[in-house]
Amino acid sequence: SIEEHIDTEAELETRAPIITVMGHVDHGKTSLLDYIREENVIAGESGGITQHIGAYGVQLKSGQKIAFLDTPGHEAFTAMRARGAQVTDLVIIVVAADDDVMPQTKEAISHAQAAGVPIVFAINKIDKPNANPDKIKEQLSTMNLLVEDWGGKIQSQDISAKTGQGVDELLEKVLLEAEMLDLKANPNKNAVGTVVEALLDKGRGYVSTILVQEGTLKIGDYMLAGKHSGKVKAMFDERGNNMQEAGPSTPVSILGLDGAPQAGDRFHVFEDEKEAKQIATKRSQLQREQSVRTQRH
Ligand code: GDP
Repeated sequence: SIEEHIDTEAELETRAPIITVMGHVDHGKTSLLDYIREENVIAGESGGITQHIGAYGVQLKSGQKIAFLDTPGHEAFTAMRARGAQVTDLVIIVVAADDDVMPQTKEAISHAQAAGVPIVFAINKIDKPNANPDKIKEQLSTMNLLVEDWGGKIQSQDISAKTGQGVDELLEKVLLEAEMLDLKANPNKNAVGTVVEALLDKGRGYVSTILVQEGTLKIGDYMLAGKHSGKVKAMFDERGNNMQEAGPSTPVSILGLDGAPQAGDRFHVFEDEKEAKQIATKRSQLQREQSVRTQRH
């Protein structure tokens, strides 16, 4: 059994918000994330080649931190939600100002609303001569989404992910919105969190990108993630910098699991290696039995 520690008010500390960026294809999600990441490299960080991993943290010049989930399309977000993982605190929805509110924009809005997380709109590509941010805001208003300029409560910011115009203001609005959520976690306990993605790397074995949501993960911890377990042998960020520990709202890639867990799997840390392994084995067994049963029917 997995016993979760019930935190007292005194044990809780403010944590960084976890953000997902969504929007219609080509409206500028990747460009926005790239711009934010390049502008907010933590001082003294080695400038290694940035590998694409599903999540990473940035530290703004103000010192404030934000964790971004960088999921291709909406699949991972939906997959995680389908598995009951509540990972995102806030969603940025990118809409290109030279286009319209599109089917995937509407889908992103529905996902955020279904998850009950606040939305901040980034009206992108305002550097383009044919950009018409007001048209986008009007289209949103017909969907009952009133942004602040239109007398509503939903935050929006005109930006250019290409020139960077408005991006700092966007992040300020995101942080303001996050502050109202009063996000807290207990950093002083065994880590608990969610798997973002995992793969088998030829040279390094199974690499799992996870998001620590509560507690602190340390090298040497025994972990159970979905059907897999193992001792955390190494941890690193998306730039390949080694890390010794990772607290709440920290995305981190780890080595040491005996397989690749699925996106949305929860992970837990155990004092005892055997217990983690036993539960992992039991879960694999149960799944095998289940698949045999489904094949029979
Ligand atoms: P994604 O599919 O939502 O990730 O969109 P991308 O970030 O790949 O952007 C799609 C295209 O729009 C690329 O050619 C970008 O260079 C371009 N683009 C993105 N943001 C801007 C912007 O603010 N201004 C201009 N002019 N082009 C942009």
